[in-house]
Amino acid sequence: MTAPREMSALALRDAIAAGQVSAAEATRAYLDAIERQDGAIRAYTQVFADRAMERAAQIDAARAAGKPLGPLGGVPVSIKDNMCTAWGKTTCASKILENFHAPYTATAVQKLEAAGAVILGKTNMDEFAMGSSTENSALQKTANPWDLARVPGGSSGGAAAGVSARLCAAALGSDTGGSIRQPAALCGCVGLKPTYGRVSRYGLVAFASSLDQIGPLARNVPDAALMLSAIAGHDGHDSTSADTPVADYAATVERPVEGLRVGLVKEFISDQLNGEIRAAVEKAAKCLTDAGATLVEISLPHSRIDVGADGTLSSYAVACYYIVATAEASSNLARYDGAHYGHRTPKTVGDIIELYSQSRAEGFGDEVKRRIMLGTYALSSGYYDAHYLKALKVRRLIAEDFRAAFGQVDVLLGPTSPEVAFRAGAKTADPLTMYLSDIYTISVNLAGIPAISLPVGLNSTGLPLAVQLLAGIFEEEKLLRAARMVERGLGSQELVPPAGREEK
Ligand code: GLN
Repeated sequence: MTAPREMSALALRDAIAAGQVSAAEATRAYLDAIERQDGAIRAYTQVFADRAMERAAQIDAARAAGKPLGPLGGVPVSIKDNMCTAWGKTTCASKILENFHAPYTATAVQKLEAAGAVILGKTNMDEFAMGSSTENSALQKTANPWDLARVPGGSSGGAAAGVSARLCAAALGSDTGGSIRQPAALCGCVGLKPTYGRVSRYGLVAFASSLDQIGPLARNVPDAALMLSAIAGHDGHDSTSADTPVADYAATVERPVEGLRVGLVKEFISDQLNGEIRAAVEKAAKCLTDAGATLVEISLPHSRIDVGADGTLSSYAVACYYIVATAEASSNLARYDGAHYGHRTPKTVGDIIELYSQSRAEGFGDEVKRRIMLGTYALSSGYYDAHYLKALKVRRLIAEDFRAAFGQVDVLLGPTSPEVAFRAGAKTADPLTMYLSDIYTISVNLAGIPAISLPVGLNSTGLPLAVQLLAGIFEEEKLLRAARMVERGLGSQELVPPAGREEK
């Protein structure tokens, strides 16, 4: 009998339903692994051991009583620490929310539990989801399970490290500019950003409300489909969640797409792309053509990447994102004022303004402050038209390019990240270099479309390589089926890092 941690979420769900393993045994196995290994990886900010064991016992009791267990019955998962839960804390890896207890539970989390999942704990992230390496966490640094001296990516770095080191069967992360897909790529797991509006954002602490979306990180594409099926759908608490019907992603994922047309994004697969990552994209393309797909070259002119005389990269998408996202963040983060939420300065202050500024100065980290200042500037009178309004126009052009592309092809294929996992500390001194980590993921959020990152083996130094598939609005079903075609073509072997292999 395979050990619970060796099983995919789907296999574990089936084994629990069949009575081959209990939810309590599976949960215990994960909690023990966290106890043993998370000291080195630090994926979790909080572990809810007692609560998880209680939930598991309820599921085992339900099974004994002959009740159905739900599509994730007994599967131990993690959630990112920016999703509100009525138990434990919701910290956003920020000092300002270090002791914040949310009064309610996020819809996506509620849905996961309703589907039978057991929540093990909350995972580390860049503070307020701002970053690409999880080094902006005010609580702890998370290591990449493939090489502990490297970053797991970010901002859902704890989620990706946890999935890849087998410290949970699957996870929920959030993606505003790449925060699910980029860490999934750097840690060697699957990460899906759904269409904007596919999953309720109710109870997700807001960073940039027109871009944020919750999605799954998993060991393989069918598990990601299973997780998405559980959390997708309209929610009366989130007016931006869509009424569009939710397909049964888990049921259709094994069905290859007949006559799949795949667009290779010319602007993404250029000479400046790292050779090994380019080879990974070619390998994925070959899997698709072997499965009967046709390739078409597609141009997304407004997602173009330029190389400066000194070799620095730039793109409209990154520039546009850092206006829109920071503008929204500066507004969303205004609520942390020392009076309504979170940290309040212990110092004696003269007036309310001083209370605000002192509490915020103590509570926010440098990157968050940088974003608030950038966003406030972009929205300030006299600069609004020059920056914010202009960025909205660029955003529209980027989205129009995608709309035109999906008139010609079913999915687009390209890289997820410009490089493999980088060394801790390598980019912390240079925010702009850090921002460029999302050069291939950001335009997806600006356009609101779904995209998935999936692993394509290891590079010459043993670090995960990944590719990204993109689809049109609400085309998750097609996206997952196409991703599964790649996974199957590759032999579909799960990548297990040294940190996840420790015990047998
Ligand atoms: N790395 C990007 C940023 O720092 C994206 C983060 C995210 O998707 N939450 O804003």
